[in-house]
Amino acid sequence: MHSIADSALTEAKIASLIERAHAYPWPEPFQSAMLLAFERRDFNGILLKEYVPEGLVNGRMALVGDAVHLATSWTGMGFNAASQDVLILAEKLAAGDLAMSGVLGQLLAYEAERLVKVRALVQGGQRFTWEFREE
Ligand SMILES: Cc1cc2nc3c(=O)[nH]c(=O)nc-3n(C[C@H](O)[C@H](O)[C@H](O)COP(=O)(O)OP(=O)(O)OC[C@H]3O[C@@H](n4cnc5c(N)ncnc54)[C@H](O)[C@@H]3O)c2cc1C
Repeated sequence: MHSIADSALTEAKIASLIERAHAYPWPEPFQSAMLLAFERRDFNGILLKEYVPEGLVNGRMALVGDAVHLATSWTGMGFNAASQDVLILAEKLAAGDLAMSGVLGQLLAYEAERLVKVRALVQGGQRFTWEFREE
């Protein structure tokens, strides 16, 4: 559920990672860099979780940020995208009629402006992640 520091892993786990890193055909300089990091006990493990949203809004509910579009941290854009969601949602709500029928339209306007962009963000990260997949 969270990133993991080198100090959180047992020696047996690190030994097993070193063994796997030796066995996997990583191209250089990545294999040497990885082995050095394991040997020096100087690395962080991060989860590769991602999902591409089909929508951001359902009736009276709108989601923002990682709750609705989780991109791998490689993109370096998740916080940026979450902040933009909030700004655009606030702009839409400030501009609209706050009767319930108006709010629903403003939520859909938020979705229309953000959905394509956040899908593209997650999919961009996925293409990169897939290059590292073990068969
Ligand atoms: C290693 C790493 C590097 C990253 N680098 C970058 C970067 O360089 N640039 C960038 O833009 N983004 C980066 N990101 C992504 C960025 O951190 C996230 O996209 C961003 O924090 C999402 O914000 P959020 O508010 O949507 O969700 P979160 O930051 O996950 O906030 C959700 C909060 O809700 C809390 N919560 C969860 N469940 C409950 C519950 N049931 N009740 C109450 N509270 C709950 C959680 O504890 C958390 O505090 C990185 C992510 C990682 C993991």
